[in-house]
Amino acid sequence: MTNMEYKEENRIDSTGSLRVCQNCKHDFTIEPDDFSFYEKIKVPPPTFCPECRMIRRFSFQNTWNLYWRNCDKCGKKTLSLYSKEKKLTIYCQPCWWADDWDGTEYGIDYDPNRSFLEQIKDLIKRTPHSALTSEYLSNKNCEYANALAWSKDCFMVFWADFCDTVYYSTLLNTLKHSSDCIRGFYSELCYESVGLGRCYQTFFSDECDDCINVWFCRNCYNCQNCVGCVNLSGASNCIFNIKYSKDEYEKKVKELNLKSWKTLNYLKDQAFAFWLTKPFRAYHGHSLSYNVTGDYIFTSKNSKESYVLNGGEDCKYCQFVTVVPVKDCFDYSGWGNNAELIYEATVVGENSSKVFFSCECWPDVMDLQYCYWNISGKNNFGCANLKRKKNCILNKEYTKEEFERLKSKIVEEMRLNPYISKSSHKYSYGEFFPPEFSMFPYNKSNAMRFFPKTKEEALAEGYDWDDSEISSYRTSIKSFDLPDTIEQVNESILNEIIECSNCSRAYKIVKGELDLLKKLELPLPHDCPKCRENKRFSRMTMPKLYDRKCDKCGKELRSPYSSDRSEIIYCESCYQKEVY
Ligand SMILES: [Zn+2]
Ligand SMILES: [Zn+2]
Ligand SMILES: [Zn+2]
Ligand SMILES: [Zn+2]
Repeated sequence: MTNMEYKEENRIDSTGSLRVCQNCKHDFTIEPDDFSFYEKIKVPPPTFCPECRMIRRFSFQNTWNLYWRNCDKCGKKTLSLYSKEKKLTIYCQPCWWADDWDGTEYGIDYDPNRSFLEQIKDLIKRTPHSALTSEYLSNKNCEYANALAWSKDCFMVFWADFCDTVYYSTLLNTLKHSSDCIRGFYSELCYESVGLGRCYQTFFSDECDDCINVWFCRNCYNCQNCVGCVNLSGASNCIFNIKYSKDEYEKKVKELNLKSWKTLNYLKDQAFAFWLTKPFRAYHGHSLSYNVTGDYIFTSKNSKESYVLNGGEDCKYCQFVTVVPVKDCFDYSGWGNNAELIYEATVVGENSSKVFFSCECWPDVMDLQYCYWNISGKNNFGCANLKRKKNCILNKEYTKEEFERLKSKIVEEMRLNPYISKSSHKYSYGEFFPPEFSMFPYNKSNAMRFFPKTKEEALAEGYDWDDSEISSYRTSIKSFDLPDTIEQVNESILNEIIECSNCSRAYKIVKGELDLLKKLELPLPHDCPKCRENKRFSRMTMPKLYDRKCDKCGKELRSPYSSDRSEIIYCESCYQKEVY
């Protein structure tokens, strides 16, 4: 094993070094700019390929699967990332954030006769975990939400910052009075849309910027009063890309009756089919980015191979960065808000710098390695569920000098005596946590949404699996029997348990959601929140790039759209000629 790896290292040429991924056994290239980054932060090059590294990080996140269980401190019922069956100490948010403990109570001495990673794993299992991953103290009235910061009055909102009165939405920054959106930024009064930037009253639309009162539109910029349009810029009063006078438009829209669920359902199919007749840009993004590759890259420069990256500079292999700015980060899966020099880390953000091989460290964190849940920590190494502490190793505090000495010793020992993971991979210093350290079964983690695996595949790679299904409720009404318009709905709907027409799961309408739908004159949703979320995600590409040709000029390009998909894909220059 060791010999083979040294041989791989010798294969360095001007384009980079070819390695074999420990996990998938495929070749991958470590590029010269990767090496410069590793040298800069003094870490060895990775032994997993970029995709296996990303999947491993995603498996440590559970943003969307919540369960009810009781707090192990106060006994109160709380929503939780962990099912009742999971044998962990779980505290509700008020108990976890309380000042009566900080994690040093669980501190242990380093045992040089055992692998350091093994000792971190034990510590993770022994310390109390927060039921949810929100920045609890910065939110108001957001108990039924997860991965949230600086927000108020949100319900079933996930991975979001600075939101106000939002329902059933994900990956947001500054979204207000909206519901059922993914990737909503600086927008207001929007519904069932994916990829919004500075939009107002945008409904059932994809990838629109600076639009007002648009319905079923795709890739429109600076448009007003449009229905079913695609690739338009600065347009108004258009229906399926045909321009009307203001009066004609208003008459036609009135005839369409956008208040009716039946109409909306019909228009959705019509619009999605119409969009497919027009060219798609090879990637999603705009001209405010410079020298970037990946998908959903906005206002970024010199950033490569990333997915959902906002305001990135000199970044690579990053995902789900929703809040600017982010600088010099590699292998970083969420979420930004002033992050610098982050490597192989996930859910790290809000004034964070030099955080490596870590998960859930925020806000105001610095110089952390191998940390799992570290709040406002500085200079910690191998700590778990620790709050506001510095110079800690395995949750035990040291003087700065003692800390540095012991840390160097441990790093050396990690190199000499690597941890061998469940699936027989070698973890010496410089890798993220092994899969079996994740507290989430693979199929309940974020990895499953973007990289689905079978139970057998997941178990073989050392991941956990959960076969249990969420118990179903007795329903009182079928969604097919819901009224066609919101005018016919009164508050008694809040007492009904609705059966989803798609998956037959039960769901309810909440008061704020009903108030918003009445304000927007939109009908009740006929699918449960889970089905709506799944359908919305299917309107996005996945974090994977393919080699393919431009459908117009034949130029080779890298695109999240593989060549067997039905969309017409144009390279940047063909797209610019056609659309602008
Ligand atoms: Zn791999
Ligand atoms: Zn509690
Ligand atoms: Zn459903
Ligand atoms: Zn082309």
